Amino acid sequence: MTRFGFIERRTRRDINLMPLQTGGTLTPEARRALVEWGDGYSVCDFCPGTLDDIKSPPIDEFVHEALPKFLDMDHARLTGGAREGKFAVMHALGERGGWIVVDENAHYSTFVAAERAGLEVQVAERTPYPEYRITPEAYERAIEQGTERFGRPPVLGLLTYPDGNYGNLPDAASIGRVLHEHDVPYLVNGAYAIGRMPFSGKKLGADFVVGSGHKSMASAGPIGVLGVSDEYAPIVLRKSKRFPIKEVEALGCTARGVVAMTLIASFPHVVERTTPERWEREVQNAQWFSERLEELGMVQVGDRPHMHDLVFFITEPLYEISKRTKKGGYFLYREMKKRGIHGIKPGLTRHFKLSTYGVEREKLKMVVDAFREIIEKYS
Ligand SMILES: *Cc1c(COP(=O)(O)O)cnc(C)c1O
Repeated sequence: MTRFGFIERRTRRDINLMPLQTGGTLTPEARRALVEWGDGYSVCDFCPGTLDDIKSPPIDEFVHEALPKFLDMDHARLTGGAREGKFAVMHALGERGGWIVVDENAHYSTFVAAERAGLEVQVAERTPYPEYRITPEAYERAIEQGTERFGRPPVLGLLTYPDGNYGNLPDAASIGRVLHEHDVPYLVNGAYAIGRMPFSGKKLGADFVVGSGHKSMASAGPIGVLGVSDEYAPIVLRKSKRFPIKEVEALGCTARGVVAMTLIASFPHVVERTTPERWEREVQNAQWFSERLEELGMVQVGDRPHMHDLVFFITEPLYEISKRTKKGGYFLYREMKKRGIHGIKPGLTRHFKLSTYGVEREKLKMVVDAFREIIEKYS
């Protein structure tokens, strides 16, 4: 049993470029909240029976006022994560033999959520390498093909905005228009958008939006946010017959503890960091970083110019080295680790994705220098 008990996290002080982690780093306020509210069910001292009606701490005001305004949606709820939000919507709208349209760049959890909800999937295909863009025309085709294949219209259209591989930001408003022309409700998966960049569900025409607290809202997790329009609230936020204050898709209550409090603790910071000016700086940093890596022989895949901090590279020069060294693919991970840089998966050299979110230019320079040094050392 000596392996258990308090365990130090050794990567915590490294420069971190891991896409999953850059937007989920806690603020000092959230780190304090973690200890203050760490006890089980700590938010439930004064619970009137539903998590999002708790007045002290002010979860009620957060969920019913601050969050809908932040998402620019009529209603909001806390969920267990982006995937739980997607599942809740799919489950509520689903019907036997039903199907949904999903972009080809969608996260695996979209497909798994559909599977759990008993729904088939028709994919809206991306354009070829190297851009992998998702277009309104692809949705048009997928609706047509799916309707032929399954003999009925889809119950939902989902767009990943941006996707978690290439960081591509599709024309979400136009895709929403295509779906609505076919009377298909529209879910925008903003796991990599909400909490990082300016976001308005209404401007995108979304009936539902989902976000991830631990990925993009400087929160501990698992926790997510769900935005719902007035039109679909009676379906997705419906109450239990037997327990009339409990919502069915939430199984009564979702993030009932410290995770909600870290989300709330970081919220003022998250509001401030999602202004257009702040996001513009993040995009500039990502583009600067991408240009430097291309100078070293890497190739950036996806949107050009790139409009998001998540960037995918094909890294042939590093792959060439891996074929020549005894350590193989692990040489890169070790070299980066020596320099206190974290975020490239151990063993990967042929391609990888990185995120520059919240990493200052000074530190990005250190990363670029590290790549240059490593390439020189092994050539
Ligand atoms: C990370 C990610 C998810 C999963 O988010 P959770 O909050 O962990 O469920 C879903 N979709 C995309 C595009 C992601 O990148």
